[in-house]
Amino acid sequence: MQRLQIGDFELTAVTDGIYHLDGGAFFGVVPKSLWQKKVTPDERNLVALGLNSVVVRTGDHTVLIETGIGNKLAERLIKIFGQPAKLLDNLSAAGFAPEDIDIVINTHLHFDHCGWNTMRQGDKVIPTFPRAKYYAPEGEWEYGRHPSERDAISYISDNYDPLVATGQMQLLRGDQEIVPGISVKVFPGHTRNMQAVIVQSGGQTACYISDLIPTSWHLDLTWVMSYDLFPLETMENRKRYYAQALPEKWLTMFTHDPNIPWGYVEKDDRGKMVAKQTT
Ligand SMILES: [Zn+2]
Repeated sequence: MQRLQIGDFELTAVTDGIYHLDGGAFFGVVPKSLWQKKVTPDERNLVALGLNSVVVRTGDHTVLIETGIGNKLAERLIKIFGQPAKLLDNLSAAGFAPEDIDIVINTHLHFDHCGWNTMRQGDKVIPTFPRAKYYAPEGEWEYGRHPSERDAISYISDNYDPLVATGQMQLLRGDQEIVPGISVKVFPGHTRNMQAVIVQSGGQTACYISDLIPTSWHLDLTWVMSYDLFPLETMENRKRYYAQALPEKWLTMFTHDPNIPWGYVEKDDRGKMVAKQTT
């Protein structure tokens, strides 16, 4: 668990554990000879990745950004990805009970980002965070009802439809403020409607950039995941992000980095993007 302060807000990084993706899929067109200098795959070519969520305590609200894989995966998916299901334990270790969370924000609705939105109780699916208002992009929810054959595997209706049906999840149409100091901004590329979460307090900014830049290994513009539906837009939107985040010294939060949940992105002496770790 890592914790830091952004102005008056306290940020705590908590993980749902480690899961595994194929290294080739995770690094797109980047040759293995290059990416394996950063991470060593196992004998099945899988790389171990994080499922990082962040809790923001503003004083008025306790906001959970992203909810990992959860514990409802079907057996066939557990065989492929694993199901660590550590988020609730790690929240508890960090001092948060599910009832403490009053806002949950999903950047998009792939199963590895919204899995703990709900959990199973008998044959019912119930909200994991009973007091929380949930937020997700409307376009993402609509797409998830009719995904392409290519990414249908990523959308699991139990993670969000029960919340939409009761009105506990509000669907967002584009950029907007959720509570004072916390807003969402759409960055297309990974999906059409994926949104980042921007946290601002006391003149400082942190951004949960989600799958636009999933790890600190993906800072280079061309290191784009095969999963991205619009890879050229990923590159354009990374440029848009860097144009603001670098000069304004934003803290970038990495959704799937297994080693660091966040860092300050800078250009090093050779012009390469690097994430400077916080201490
Ligand atoms: Zn995704």
